[in-house]
Amino acid sequence: MRTLMMAGNWKMNTTPSEASTLVKEMRQGLEQIKGVDKVLCPPFVSLVVVRELVQNTSIKVGAQNMYFEPKGAFTGETAPDMLAELCDYVILGHSERRQYFSETDEIVNKKVKAALGVGLTPIMCVGERLEENEAGKTVEVVTRQVKGGLRDIEMPVSMIIAYEPVWAIGTGKAATSEEANDTIGVIRRTVAELYGNKTADEMRVLYGGSMNAANATELLQKPEIDGGLIGGASLKAAEFVSMVEQAAAVKK
Ligand code: 13P
Repeated sequence: MRTLMMAGNWKMNTTPSEASTLVKEMRQGLEQIKGVDKVLCPPFVSLVVVRELVQNTSIKVGAQNMYFEPKGAFTGETAPDMLAELCDYVILGHSERRQYFSETDEIVNKKVKAALGVGLTPIMCVGERLEENEAGKTVEVVTRQVKGGLRDIEMPVSMIIAYEPVWAIGTGKAATSEEANDTIGVIRRTVAELYGNKTADEMRVLYGGSMNAANATELLQKPEIDGGLIGGASLKAAEFVSMVEQAAAVKK
């Protein structure tokens, strides 16, 4: 009985004024959809404006990254409690952070702990690269990333995991619903190993990677898939609203 979540990761797109226009384009459509958790993750510089625009609606806001230190001389970084004042969620360990900014499981783990410490809900991303997939290492890689990211965390009170196979991100080639469902099943069993079946049954695991209005229903109908972390398609108001509508219509 997990509520589906549809989260838009806008990545490094939209200026504050563009972000404001995009929210206004989708706000009413999203607000009419019940029974799905809706989250918008704009760039840092637009968190304030997006937050103001969705105040008193059911739409929640998330950040795309965060530093783990609480404060101090870390020029250009953003601290956990700064974000906690502006949003409810934070995407951590996205493959683009791992690939271009050298984030390791150890760093992701520090960030997850710091986010939980200030009451933010982490959306922790895991997923194998193409060569790892082709070498049959998907299970090994995602298991390592889940265990690494959750190391020494006794019981994550609020926590979301997103399975994003790197080869599916921005490529137009989503994982098949079977592949995504199988790997998310592996992730859930890993969570069960760490925290027991109850926590694993309650924890939402999203799929991300070329999810769009044409493939959303098929993916979301799978029993293990609890929603989507959507990049490109979340920048198009009508398409994102359609995907959230599809989530609301799915019966499991
Ligand atoms: P795309 O939906 O553009 O493939 O991006 C997925 C993603 O990385 C979301 O975090």
